[in-house]
Amino acid sequence: MVTTGAPRMKITYATLSADNEELQSAFDRAVTTARGQLGDRYPMLIGDERRFADDQFEDRSPIDANVVVSRFPIGTAKDVQDAIAAARAAFSAWRDLGWRRRIELMRRAADLISERQFEYAALMAIEVGKNRLEALGDVEETADLLRYYSDVMERHQGFVEPMGSLSPTEHTRSVLKPHGVWAVISPFNFPMALSGGPAAGALIAGNTVVMKPSSDAPLLAFKFAEVLREVGVPGGAVNLVTGPGETVGAELEHNPGIDGLVFTGSYEVGMRLYSSFTREYPRPIITEMGGKNPAIVTRSADLDEAAEGVMRSAFGFDGQKCSANSRVYVDRTVARQFVDTLVEKTRKLAVGDPTRRENWMGPVINERALGKFTEAVAEAQHDGGTIEVGGQVLTGDGTQRGFFPTPTVVSGLPLGHRLFHDELFVPFVVIGEVDSLDEALEQANATPYGLTAGIFSRDDTEVRRFLDRIQAGVVYVNRRSGATTGAWPGIQSFGGWKGSGSSGKNGLGPYYVQQFMREQSQTVMGEEPPPA
Ligand code: NAD
Repeated sequence: MVTTGAPRMKITYATLSADNEELQSAFDRAVTTARGQLGDRYPMLIGDERRFADDQFEDRSPIDANVVVSRFPIGTAKDVQDAIAAARAAFSAWRDLGWRRRIELMRRAADLISERQFEYAALMAIEVGKNRLEALGDVEETADLLRYYSDVMERHQGFVEPMGSLSPTEHTRSVLKPHGVWAVISPFNFPMALSGGPAAGALIAGNTVVMKPSSDAPLLAFKFAEVLREVGVPGGAVNLVTGPGETVGAELEHNPGIDGLVFTGSYEVGMRLYSSFTREYPRPIITEMGGKNPAIVTRSADLDEAAEGVMRSAFGFDGQKCSANSRVYVDRTVARQFVDTLVEKTRKLAVGDPTRRENWMGPVINERALGKFTEAVAEAQHDGGTIEVGGQVLTGDGTQRGFFPTPTVVSGLPLGHRLFHDELFVPFVVIGEVDSLDEALEQANATPYGLTAGIFSRDDTEVRRFLDRIQAGVVYVNRRSGATTGAWPGIQSFGGWKGSGSSGKNGLGPYYVQQFMREQSQTVMGEEPPPA
């Protein structure tokens, strides 16, 4: 465990650089330690049981596919049923523990996660190929999600709200109560924050959970569940099952013992779950899905700022953030200058093993993702686009054992082209020229997605029009540190509109925890109000 000597500097996704030598060497030490732990076998967590299985899958590093990061069981429907039964058995005790005690446990867990930030980030960098700042950010975001959701619960004193009265002997209050057992299905790209954050929301509200992480990134979700157990969250309150979505995920989807489901992942899987989960009867489901996030650059923009913001959001973690900027609408009069500046900045990006300090970009998650990249490049060329920079896959210095695309900027495609509409989740940004802000807004809104968006403009009227009309759950204006990316708990709440999210309430924000509860109106007759 790397806890000693790790500097306490808060790393967020907007941290531009880390010249702090102490931080760099603490991370290097953590990587060395992490390498010594690779290939271990891990169990599923079912009630108090650590359940291993002969049937396992290998979680391999995208940096070098020969490296097995961890081995986890291929869970069966029976394993999931047992986990649900354990979560159901644990529910009433966890609910009755009360919100004060629950947030105490969550805050303790948050502190442990922060203390182990370097240990976890190093494992994450190897597991999914994040660079060190991104990995450190993911871990610290997890801790801050626990803290922020705990603060929300405390601010609302557990959501017991006195209501009006129609007579002196009538006392009414509105109480939010947990539902029971929630399934938490997570994607690969924020392996800790997007397992831990949703699980924490459900748990703080008083539910118990069955977590199912992505098979590309189960390790950090496992570490999160272990931390909760370590601080005293009872076994049955937090369960973790592993294995493919088609079996393990499907059991969570169909089992009537699941009272609510929170999913983060692709539009395709999310929409399927959204329609099938409520087929028999209404059950709450929160789906956070993909994005095709636009940036608009008007003629009044600071073009260096715009190019920097686009470059960071399009290529940070190889474009594998749901908030990644993947299309830009730039005013025709400044388009060439903007593209040239973007290309110049992109050429300077170092791509390679992301555990090494000098590399800002690493691999994409797997061979399938690399295939999407090469197909998109070929399609862009075939359809008359210009590859301004990138378009290649690295093959030297061991990179051929991983999946390393180069950051790619494409211009010249018609605005209706599929590459302006389909989420690719690779480092590939398309640039379209427009004649006005209105045209840019029309294009920006013309996809089923509505997650994040950004504008670069020095004209207040333009900025106001953008803020009034853009259809997205998270928007940014003139953000050099990321045109469309970089939300942080308690600062930018994060969620999608339209095909990007189902609930209209954002994660990381003030209305999230409430979604894991249902309201009960309690009217009690008597001379005195009932005890709290
Ligand atoms: P994915 O949809 O392939 O997988 C997400 C999870 O769903 C995984 O755990 C997977 O095993 C599971 N799953 C797959 N099929 C299933 C099924 N039939 N039933 C139940 N579960 C099933 O997504 P991914 O590739 O891991 O992640 C990338 C996607 O996630 C992108 O589209 C990205 O935009 C999106 N994402 C969205 C947000 C957000 O907050 N809106 C955040 C991160 C990622």
